[in-house]
Amino acid sequence: MRVLVVEDESRLAETVRRGLADEGFVVEVAHTGEQGLWALTERDFDVIVLDIMLPGKSGYTVLGELRDRGIWTPVLMLTAKDGEYDQVDAFDLGADDYLTKPFSFMVLVARLRALIRRGVSERPVVLTAGDLVLDPVSHRVSRNGVDVRLTPREFNLLEFLMQHRGDAVSKSEILRNVWDPSFDGDLNIVEVYVRYLRRKLDHPFGTDCIETIRGVGYRLDPDGGAMVGSGS
Ligand code: CA
Repeated sequence: MRVLVVEDESRLAETVRRGLADEGFVVEVAHTGEQGLWALTERDFDVIVLDIMLPGKSGYTVLGELRDRGIWTPVLMLTAKDGEYDQVDAFDLGADDYLTKPFSFMVLVARLRALIRRGVSERPVVLTAGDLVLDPVSHRVSRNGVDVRLTPREFNLLEFLMQHRGDAVSKSEILRNVWDPSFDGDLNIVEVYVRYLRRKLDHPFGTDCIETIRGVGYRLDPDGGAMVGSGS
């Protein structure tokens, strides 16, 4: 298991490097975003630990450039509680997981192992539902041939709904799958993001593919159109 740790605080980087090596990881440390990007274009890694606050290129710039280059290695971001970015930003920027400093080393190891496991089985095929097309690799969404730009969170929500097309999914199921398992915020965040999706995917096209199922949650049904008051 090869890990790249991008962290400018050398003492923390060294502690993490030593600890991960003891756990059987092969670890490489980069102290700047530029170094990290270079390592990532030269060598393959199974997972990346990426600090957000870095001199020069910030962690989030590094992450954006990685994804632009088509490198989909899972990324765990290190965020600072009082930093410029918080954990919600880390996800919106396309991170796969995050830890807030200071963190427990054993939690870091467990999260990295989970990401590595997930990373192997992922990279699924293009999803379609009616005239909706979602490509998980290029991160593109289109409706009826027209590109629709989504934030990473909106994208993940749509991906989840498309994987369960035709089924009613509850808000808590959505929260568990689209947000981090440790997210303990309000369920209403799901409503907010469904609204964002409708604004981008339905309103401009005069469609109504995300149904609200009262008392249950939501159902993506691109062929069903508007089904007012669908019971059960
Ligand atoms: Ca830092």
